[in-house]
Amino acid sequence: MSEKLLIVDDSKATRDSIRKTLKDVFSDFIEADNGLSAIRLFTEERPGFIITGVEMPKMDGYKLVSTIRGLEGGGDVPVVMFSGKKPTLKGKLDGLNIGASDYLFKPFDNEELVARVKCLLRVRKSIEGLLERNALLEKLAVTDTLTGLYNRRYFFDAAKEQMALGLRHSFRIACLLIDIDHFKKINDTWGHQAGDDVLRNVGRLLLAKKRDGELMARFGGEEFIICLFNTDQKSAVQAAHRFRNALKTHDFTSRHHPPLHITVSIGLAIYPQDGILTIDELISAADMAMYRSKKEGRDRVSCPASPVSKDVRQPAGAPRPKDIADPLKLP
Ligand code: GH3
Ligand code: MG
Ligand code: MG
Repeated sequence: MSEKLLIVDDSKATRDSIRKTLKDVFSDFIEADNGLSAIRLFTEERPGFIITGVEMPKMDGYKLVSTIRGLEGGGDVPVVMFSGKKPTLKGKLDGLNIGASDYLFKPFDNEELVARVKCLLRVRKSIEGLLERNALLEKLAVTDTLTGLYNRRYFFDAAKEQMALGLRHSFRIACLLIDIDHFKKINDTWGHQAGDDVLRNVGRLLLAKKRDGELMARFGGEEFIICLFNTDQKSAVQAAHRFRNALKTHDFTSRHHPPLHITVSIGLAIYPQDGILTIDELISAADMAMYRSKKEGRDRVSCPASPVSKDVRQPAGAPRPKDIADPLKLP
């Protein structure tokens, strides 16, 4: 947050005195002589701290503080109010209840003002630290640590959200399940670190090739998943081949393995069609299509041919059904 202090009071002498007292605490100062100008300054200059008098023309300190608290970015900014009236508990409570961070009566001791301001700055700093840590934790919770891509959990949440939108706006979602062919051989030949490098680079390449608005995640192990929105089967098939070709023609290199090439098998399913109504059904259909790509020789794209109805789908771990379309011809 900004180290800019906004001082608000109709007395120039008071503003000068506050500025002088806090000259070593803040790096930047702006001033207003009434509440209305203060609001304008607040929205234009985004000060990180406000000290305001209570009794002022046009708009008093109470109205100023309650207005600022309702403005975007105004909920957390520390505000110290000071009154020139006879100290009363009611006056102080009114200020604190309206959202002031602290409330003083004039004449206040300069050292006390510095101490109170520093105390509020410490609180603000620790809140900022907590918010940053929270944002980091939120990011980690949806990120795959190896590739930095979104993880499976984020994928499910985002895809479900898009599905709900899709139902309302009747658009289609194409799901591509991408599995690296014979990946185990890379681990077995060059070691696990080499395998990790390949996974990271596959993630990077897919990310570079995916278009804005397409949802992509590491689905697990050597499987990646991409959702294309508002697309038809023809464009989805083209996109799948675009990803397949990009990976196939890439020279993968790292310090853990010599230059090598990979291929991928892709399963493609589309919602809502072929009886696919949920995210689980969409992924299950894409998984079956991917398995077909494997069975037919790998390095290809397959779709479900007939409706993926309940009697065709199998529970996890069960033998896969056979009635899936022939792999789509390579372009
Ligand atoms: P297929 O063409 O049938 O897909 O063969 P495959 O070898 O790619 O598939 P398989 O399921 O037999 O093996 C996948 C391997 O991926 C096994 C597992 O050890 C490896 N693997 C999964 N996650 C990671 C990872 O994070 N890092 C590394 N290095 N290997 C991983
Ligand atoms: Mg796999
Ligand atoms: Mg594999």
